[in-house]
Amino acid sequence: MGRRTPRQQRSPPPSLPLDLQAITPFPKVIVFDLDYTLWARHIDCSYGPPFTWDKAYGTARDARGEPLRLFPDVPAILTALAQRTDTVVAAASRTTTPAWARAILPVIQVPVAGDAAARVAADGASHVPLDRFFSPVREIYPTSKLRHFAAIQAQTGADYRDMLFFDDEFDNIRTIRGLGVTCVYIEEDGMTWRAMREGLDEWAAARAAS
Ligand SMILES: [Mg+2]
Repeated sequence: MGRRTPRQQRSPPPSLPLDLQAITPFPKVIVFDLDYTLWARHIDCSYGPPFTWDKAYGTARDARGEPLRLFPDVPAILTALAQRTDTVVAAASRTTTPAWARAILPVIQVPVAGDAAARVAADGASHVPLDRFFSPVREIYPTSKLRHFAAIQAQTGADYRDMLFFDDEFDNIRTIRGLGVTCVYIEEDGMTWRAMREGLDEWAAARAAS
């Protein structure tokens, strides 16, 4: 039977980094939701700007000092994506406070390390603003994600089947999957390498079948 022991429930599949440079073919557009996909907060439930960066704790803070953190695998995933010149990294968020989301993007400092740092941070910096990992394709306003994706399609010229999308709300996944976009449902641990692997595998399988 499919019943799991408690021990297995405590041991999710490992979330090991992937060498994204080695993967071919690769989606032309990777789209991330923001709240509870990249960071562990609903930005419209925060106390809003001014947002500041707390270097000591490695977190952004809202007007009352409440933290807003990226999920642990996000820096390495974005750094790896930044080295692929053949893919566009886009944002799609239905937040009711778009100005707040846009305001915090340059405030959050993403740690970059190793060989990647030299390529992503030209000046040798150890941190790069989150803002810099996204292309100008940023659809951030409350609406249906269908409108976001129509705008992303128009701006990138990519087919929906060449896109990969990550979101923590199943309604969004179901809606956008209907367009032919490969969609990955993000669990409560946020965006992970495991989700990236699942997405790339699913995308490659769908591409091979079409
Ligand atoms: Mg979300």
